[in-house]
Amino acid sequence: MSTHSRLVVIKKSPTPRNIVGKEFIYGILSTEIKVLSKYIFVDSGRLTRHLPEVPTKVYNTERIISSISSKIEAETRAFVSYNYPSRTRELVVPGSSVKGNIRARIELSMYPRDGNIKSCFSVWRSGRASWRHVKIFPGSKLSREGCDYLNEYKVCPVCDVFGSSGLASRVFFSDFICKQCDTENISVRKGFRVEAVKKDSIFIGNMWIAGLRRIEVGLLLWGMGIDHIGREGMPALFGRLKYARPDFGVISYRVLDFTPATYSGVDREEFLSNADNWIKEAEDEYWLKRVDELSAKENLG
Ligand SMILES: [Zn+2]
Repeated sequence: MSTHSRLVVIKKSPTPRNIVGKEFIYGILSTEIKVLSKYIFVDSGRLTRHLPEVPTKVYNTERIISSISSKIEAETRAFVSYNYPSRTRELVVPGSSVKGNIRARIELSMYPRDGNIKSCFSVWRSGRASWRHVKIFPGSKLSREGCDYLNEYKVCPVCDVFGSSGLASRVFFSDFICKQCDTENISVRKGFRVEAVKKDSIFIGNMWIAGLRRIEVGLLLWGMGIDHIGREGMPALFGRLKYARPDFGVISYRVLDFTPATYSGVDREEFLSNADNWIKEAEDEYWLKRVDELSAKENLG
């Protein structure tokens, strides 16, 4: 089929939130993120501007204003720098960035069948993606319907897991806190400096699984690039500058442990010994195909 036709997103009524039973898993998935590339950088959204001093020897108001504004502009260009997100001076990867990364990988790695697809685009919208992004994830070119839970009361299977406008997520992400990190101030280009985290740095965080079925846990782990629980997942592109710089933006995920809640339908042993099967089942169920993100990035040239 043509890539210009719009795919129909398969939707159904969402799973009730906070439902318990043998089918539903509750608990904490402790997870590690390891920096594989020379650097990673995640935007804190906070911009530090070093404002220039106000010139004193100008007497004409208009000249003062134009002089100040041009000076601010020039100085801002020269000194804009981004700080790595931190919480009480610890380095963190925000949980929202982790969630977005995993969810985007799932959405972009899905292939259509007979004009249908099992996910909307929540993270990326076609048409807005950069050429590098489209080259790495050809699936981002396929136009899809969106999910509109508040009007339709139905969502795609990915929104059912990760939430949608008006619909809570069934998995929550803590911030990932640095356990062993080294940072370096890098000049990305003239006037743009970042505090980047260096290779081999480790971040630890938790994912709180709140009523996911086994196959949905498989989907989550698949999105982390994991094939075997306990082993490092395949390299994943992450953070800012991941496309623009060859030395930025590659991480891997690894599950450290699963701690079930008392009312979880699945205990720790069953989780850890069966998760590999759930990942395979999810790959079939959700029409997923792995993208070798690292090779694709290297081939960008
Ligand atoms: Zn959706």
